[in-house]
Amino acid sequence: MATNRTFTMLKPDSIEKGNIGAILEKITTSGFRIVAMKMTQLSTANCEEFYAIHSERPFFGELITYMTRGAIVAAILEKENAVEDFRALIGATNPADAAEGTIRKLYADSMGENAVHGSDSNENAEIEGNFHFSGREQF
Ligand code: ATP
Ligand code: MG
Repeated sequence: MATNRTFTMLKPDSIEKGNIGAILEKITTSGFRIVAMKMTQLSTANCEEFYAIHSERPFFGELITYMTRGAIVAAILEKENAVEDFRALIGATNPADAAEGTIRKLYADSMGENAVHGSDSNENAEIEGNFHFSGREQF
């Protein structure tokens, strides 16, 4: 994956609240092109693997329960400086600290249920994109 790509998930709270359309609109009007996208649901095993870096954190169990309780939308996004610009668009992890106009400020309720994921490095964007989209697909 080129370094002008990032990976996102619209988390279960966004799907439950009917915010898929609004969040995708915000993403595309902010200059990101959707390269690949699917609606799916994470198994517990897949979710634990995806968030393995947090396995020792006290909120890990809560995170896995939340992220596996319903459908997510996974997508690969393309834009110049994609990783950094997308982190700026989603806002701080805790929506209470997120800047005005960011996705988490607009659509997230709490630190635990914060609407969207965004990769934190080019390396992780590639790993996470490959985790959700198999090499058989061309994009
Ligand atoms: P993400 O990786 O989902 O884009 P992030 O990079 O802003 O979020 P991380 O530190 O990677 O934040 O945490 C991953 C996710 O774990 C957070 O998005 C949130 O859903 C959950 N989380 C993080 N810290 C806490 C906490 N203190 N209490 C509850 N949940 C938390
Ligand atoms: Mg993170």
